[in-house]
Amino acid sequence: MTKFSELNLNPKVLKAIEEAGYESPTPIQEGAIPPALEGKDVLGIAQTGTGKTAGFVLPMITLLARGRARARMPRSLVLCPTRELAAQVAENFDTYSKHVKLTKALLIGGVSFGEQDKLIDKGVDVLIATPGRLLDHFERGKLLLTGVQIMVVDEADRMLDMGFIPDIERIFSLTPFTRQTLFFSATMAPEIERITNTFLSAPTRIEVARQATTGENITQSVVMFKGSRKDREASEKRNVLRALIDAEGEKCTNAIIFCNRKTDVDIVSKSLKKYGYDAAPIHGDLDQSQRTRTLDGFRDGSLRFLVASDVAARGLDVPAVSHVFNFDVPGHAEDYVHRIGRTGRAGRDGTTMMICVPRDEKNLADIERLVQREIPRRDNPLKSAPPKAEPEPVKEEAVAKPERRSRTPKKPEPERAPAEASIKEKPKNEYRSSSRGRSSNRDSGGNKVVGMGDHLPSFIALSFEERRAG
Ligand code: AMP
Repeated sequence: MTKFSELNLNPKVLKAIEEAGYESPTPIQEGAIPPALEGKDVLGIAQTGTGKTAGFVLPMITLLARGRARARMPRSLVLCPTRELAAQVAENFDTYSKHVKLTKALLIGGVSFGEQDKLIDKGVDVLIATPGRLLDHFERGKLLLTGVQIMVVDEADRMLDMGFIPDIERIFSLTPFTRQTLFFSATMAPEIERITNTFLSAPTRIEVARQATTGENITQSVVMFKGSRKDREASEKRNVLRALIDAEGEKCTNAIIFCNRKTDVDIVSKSLKKYGYDAAPIHGDLDQSQRTRTLDGFRDGSLRFLVASDVAARGLDVPAVSHVFNFDVPGHAEDYVHRIGRTGRAGRDGTTMMICVPRDEKNLADIERLVQREIPRRDNPLKSAPPKAEPEPVKEEAVAKPERRSRTPKKPEPERAPAEASIKEKPKNEYRSSSRGRSSNRDSGGNKVVGMGDHLPSFIALSFEERRAG
């Protein structure tokens, strides 16, 4: 087995690796580090959990340790699709460069421009950014990309999903032709192939086997569920979720609950809280400080349930997650793999359960084709003891003045389903406006709080364009 010490890394980097407790490189590291150190372009086909971050961070630190930063001209650039991933990459740099003097700046939404501007003015070795925010800085004339010697594109397939490819192409064109490019993607969609053919020069291609999706350490199951009535399905589904959690009891030390849409992330989180579960939401519309607080809480164990969208949870590395619940069957089979890979990390045991309603059966079949196995069916835990009937869902038109109603102090009451059925599905681009003005609905004690209460009038969940059109 190859050792890190055989990879020509800077001795100070080796020391930091040792202190981090890593003994030998993972396959993607073993494949990517040598060509990266030789200055070659690298195309890494690997997903999160394979150690790909260190696969580019370690050689970058080694290469950058040799020179000096110049004002406003970062020497290297790492592009990430989400703020969380960017922050995680920054943490990796901190861990592995602790014995090397390197400066870095993080350009992500939700963090003030001022401080990052100051760092960039002074000169940084590493600039870690989301594409939109980077271009904002560039357009404000605060940044020159002509000094970039190494450029990393991380999770390119997710960039594609999020519509960042034009930004990435623009950023490529702003960096020198002679730069070295390290490009990572979990899959090679035709559009990704096109970009790599255009911007990478004779790359060394490393493909690592998909993370064990059917790993023995992850117990998977799915509940086939049909609501008693279409307009009750969503609230009954939340009831099933609670029953699944309860049935696991103490085995479920913590869990990530995935929903397909941001609106549902908010609704499920709020519903769980109301029923006394320690839950908080995370998705792209929440402000950065709230997302950071939620994630920190989940990481340090003070928050038990993280209700998440795919984009927000992508690449998140929380080592000990006992359970993953798929409240919805993901629309893209690949996402199932990413989701369940949040549990059972580092050889631990993990459990994952999914709720499948009839209209999602096709997506379930796609997933089973991808993971090449049948996901065991489990009984609906409520079947033997039918749930107490939930009250009639609130009809959209019945909510005359939601703002006024919401001010009424509430005592805990049974859940009402918002008019979810009327929300048009937007599976890929999650809703933009779903959480607007609702952050005050959270409180630490799980008490009822002032705000929209349990109502989510459906117009709130519509994007601005849809509201205008409607
Ligand atoms: P990533 O795929 O970059 O998100 O990394 C997944 C996890 O693997 C992180 O928790 C890393 O800290 C960990 N890791 C990275 N490199 C190694 C290694 N060589 N040995 C063991 N764990 C590693």
